[in-house]
Amino acid sequence: MQKEVTLIAGDGIGPEIIISVKEIFTALGVPITWEEINAGIASLDSGGELIPQSLIDSVNKNKVALKGPITTPVGKGFKSVNVQLRHIFDLYQNIRPCKSTPGVISKFDNVDTVLFRENTEGLYAGLELYDDRLEMADSIARVTKKGSLRIVRAAFEYARKFGREKVTIVHKANILKWIGKIFLDAGDEVAKDYPEIEVNDRIIDNMCMQLVIRPEDYDVIVTTNLFGDILSDLCAGLVGGLGLVAGANIGDKVAIFEAVHGSAPDIAGQGLANPTAIIRSSILMLKHLKLNSFAEAIDLALNKTLADPQLCTADLGGASDTQQFTKSIISNIN
Ligand code: ATP
Repeated sequence: MQKEVTLIAGDGIGPEIIISVKEIFTALGVPITWEEINAGIASLDSGGELIPQSLIDSVNKNKVALKGPITTPVGKGFKSVNVQLRHIFDLYQNIRPCKSTPGVISKFDNVDTVLFRENTEGLYAGLELYDDRLEMADSIARVTKKGSLRIVRAAFEYARKFGREKVTIVHKANILKWIGKIFLDAGDEVAKDYPEIEVNDRIIDNMCMQLVIRPEDYDVIVTTNLFGDILSDLCAGLVGGLGLVAGANIGDKVAIFEAVHGSAPDIAGQGLANPTAIIRSSILMLKHLKLNSFAEAIDLALNKTLADPQLCTADLGGASDTQQFTKSIISNIN
């Protein structure tokens, strides 16, 4: 039976990498119908709203969306569309799996982490004030017990479901006393329900150092919003770069899948974009929709392509452009 999914192409390299997903899904006969609605600059340019009501209605109806990156113009008073969508749909879990891929040149070949980033609170709560007279700004990081408990529980549930052995809670409780306490207390409270899973905690700065020395020591990681944003780019660097890492934004009612990277305006429109991250996001989406056989077929074909450096895009040292890379994946589908 066909399932309808909202598709947001985004801007920058968004439209190029979204085409890759569409072509692969068509070649494989994935039973999905796209409902295409744009947001951000692409929507503004065609006379629409930054986040059109039609997009909100579509996501509420379909419950699942695949989204390309959307640029937030810096210093023009725009709120990030990405952050707003997470708030509108209460997508409190941002899940970013990061795994070494055989054949892809990277600093390590033994990384297998899954990062859970709290997606609606912390310094992204939207509590920012500017005092013109004093030329002073306050950005308030709001962390709640409820918000901490639900993201920590999501991380432990994932660990149990997928047989993961350890959960690491990342914080800055030595300086941010209250935020740190709330988050660490949530860890203690939830961990009691998962006695089979090892739990430890790390201060964010130490965590960064540990990850670049011994990433194999880390399994499931759970942290607050800003630390999660930074750690996910760090983890992407461990496995070959931003072009490779997928993300899922999950709430209790709706899920939006998107790559970890941004709109990469420096390479947009040149055929240089690596579509792997958005393809992997679409694989997460297929698993969420319980279309596992399609997810596995795409994963196999993608990994087979990535294993041949010649077939890869320039960010991975290869000579293929986005379209050629996509064609190779399609020809590797069994
Ligand atoms: P944002 O703040 O929106 O997350 P960013 O500042 O982290 O964006 P990105 O747009 O993610 O920046 O790009 C960072 C760098 O990584 C750029 O040099 C870009 O060219 C490169 N990059 C990002 N995504 C890809 C990709 N899919 N393929 C190739 N290179 C990429």
